[in-house]
Amino acid sequence: MKRISILGSTGSIGRKTLQVISALRGEFEVVGLAAKTSVDLIEQQVYQFHPRQVSLTDEKCAEILKERLKSATDAKDVEVLSGEEGLIKIATMEEADLVLSATVGSAGLIPTLEAIKAHKDLAFVNKEVLVMSGSLVMKAAAENHINILPIDSEISAIHQCLEGNRRRDEIRRLVLTASGGPFRQTAIEELSKATVDKALKHPNWNMGSKVTIDSATLMNKGFEVIEAKWLFDVELSQIDIIIHPESTIHSMVEFIDGSWIAQLGIADMRVPIQYALTYPERRPTSTPPLNLISIGALTFEKVDMEKFPCLRLALTAAEIGGTMPTVLSGSDEIVVQAFLEGKIGFLDIPKIIEKVMSIHNVKSSPGLDDILIADNWAKQVTKEIVGLSIVDC
Ligand code: MG
Repeated sequence: MKRISILGSTGSIGRKTLQVISALRGEFEVVGLAAKTSVDLIEQQVYQFHPRQVSLTDEKCAEILKERLKSATDAKDVEVLSGEEGLIKIATMEEADLVLSATVGSAGLIPTLEAIKAHKDLAFVNKEVLVMSGSLVMKAAAENHINILPIDSEISAIHQCLEGNRRRDEIRRLVLTASGGPFRQTAIEELSKATVDKALKHPNWNMGSKVTIDSATLMNKGFEVIEAKWLFDVELSQIDIIIHPESTIHSMVEFIDGSWIAQLGIADMRVPIQYALTYPERRPTSTPPLNLISIGALTFEKVDMEKFPCLRLALTAAEIGGTMPTVLSGSDEIVVQAFLEGKIGFLDIPKIIEKVMSIHNVKSSPGLDDILIADNWAKQVTKEIVGLSIVDC
């Protein structure tokens, strides 16, 4: 039985992971759960999965949970932790063989690095961590001989396409597919009217709000390019993006002999989650089968960089390197929150990030301190531009 701890257990991926674990009856023991503030949901997860330790980053929420578990008959022995320390304890707990890192944004960086240092294999979905500090994460992973198993559907697809074809010099390019998001067919001049509700209506995937907004701006695809560069050790010039509105092909690899391998499936995150958990083996799932006849045709389009400047900004940040991707990610975290709260418009998202990037002094070959300073700087400057007083990140 594999033992797993889950960072971000109450988010979209965390909840789906627990569904997968329930369906894989008896293969996994959940030893740790961590979330930010969701007391009610994590309490239910404790009763269902009986972890040994659980953590809520928010101290007050952790106190409430502690009180509730005290009076519960079958959860008295569960240790309740809190704060950043609690999250790190769940990431490094002795009993875990595998850590699923599904927190959103920069909050996942230190716990992820600590999990790697504690020699835990990672099932990985927090793309911001790789965007902001890919070189540090990959270096730590190599030094500690741990596996990083991607969950992001496109990155999982590339991982699957490269099984058995691992020689990097045989790869011509990786081709990431993008649905194009909810505004694929919206005219560029109409985008100023894009509302939060419309931006949250992803055509194919059901995901958390941060990644859904990032998908509407295509920032998400830029993040995935950076994620793929680090995880598969290829040049940026070897990664292409193609719009594929059906989201049936999750991504592809073109090899030097002209052959392509694509990974297809229905758009359900439980499939790549399960693959990461059971890797290198596969198990049946209860998801409906892919029916190509009912889909009929698969279509492809060129990506419109002018309409989606966030993608251009992400690729520029990746080219510049150093602390610039950190600043991209930090600034994006704040502007997406501001957009969700109705404080800025859809078109302000790239404008503000571009402004912040333009005044950043890039530090090359950054260490952890440089990354944390750049992330903090980007967030503060973005908050000032957005006019937010306090944002809890
Ligand atoms: Mg994705």
